[in-house]
Amino acid sequence: MTTASPPASAGALVLFSGGQDSTTCLAWALDRHPHVETVGFDYGQRHRIELDCRTVVLARVRQRFPAWAPRMGADHLLPLEALGLIGGTALTSETEIAMRADGLPNTFVPGRNLLFLTLAAALAYRRGMAVLVGGMCETDYSGYPDCRDATMKAMQQALALGMDRPFAIETPLMWLDKAATWRLAQSLGGDALVDIVREDTHTCYLGERGQLHPWGHGCGSCPACQLRAQGYAAWQAAGAGN
Ligand code: ZN
Repeated sequence: MTTASPPASAGALVLFSGGQDSTTCLAWALDRHPHVETVGFDYGQRHRIELDCRTVVLARVRQRFPAWAPRMGADHLLPLEALGLIGGTALTSETEIAMRADGLPNTFVPGRNLLFLTLAAALAYRRGMAVLVGGMCETDYSGYPDCRDATMKAMQQALALGMDRPFAIETPLMWLDKAATWRLAQSLGGDALVDIVREDTHTCYLGERGQLHPWGHGCGSCPACQLRAQGYAAWQAAGAGN
């Protein structure tokens, strides 16, 4: 982590996991903010492949988008082992993915996005940034209550009150389905960005890379892979590139 701070309100901090959604958010932020930094969290996730993908995606975006590269500032990785220690979810332990009695999948990590946003805001505060960008989405989501627009609005208010500084939480994917997310990547960065999303981002809950499918790497059968593959197919069927 570097210590030099950019001028106040000079940019945006993207919550960047190395997946399809946050990579699209990164491109979205680079398209409209003069300075963009990224933050990821090591929370003891079952599959570390996601963290490896982060650095690959960042390197490829720098390489393929010379107009964006000068806007790309520091990448931060913050430890958050407490989430893994609390455990009890299929994303942080070797538990089979299943639906819980209350209708939420057991991939739900309670409080995860709330913690992510709080830490991201603390980092943004120190770095002189007032905009947080995240891939939370209410359309195709798994029912995660911490992805809801109302949660984001409340969080934005809590952060602004608690740090006595205005914060904006920008969620460009909030009302998009997965097909629209593929379309957004295409419109922001053309085939070059779609290639990066397909080849280098990671979504699979089981941590599988394996063969490259048209929609990317992954097991193809976990809920995250299914959503990603179905979105890609719908985007293709609707005439990808339009
Ligand atoms: Zn999968």
